[in-house]
Amino acid sequence: MKKSHISIPKPKSKFLKVACSECGEIQVIYSHASTSITCNSCGNEVAKSTGSIAKLYGKVSGNAE
Ligand SMILES: [Zn+2]
Repeated sequence: MKKSHISIPKPKSKFLKVACSECGEIQVIYSHASTSITCNSCGNEVAKSTGSIAKLYGKVSGNAE
């Protein structure tokens, strides 16, 4: 029996570190956030819910896992 390649499924969701585009404050954002997320420091919107993957307005600085 031939061994077939087994692909490991990637997790569909993750936590991301996003820098606020206004003040640079790092926010930890869930990639599938169901609500809009505002900056803790200045109140600027850093992510918006789209129904699936959240739209990010800030600069992603890495995964927060
Ligand atoms: Zn901010």
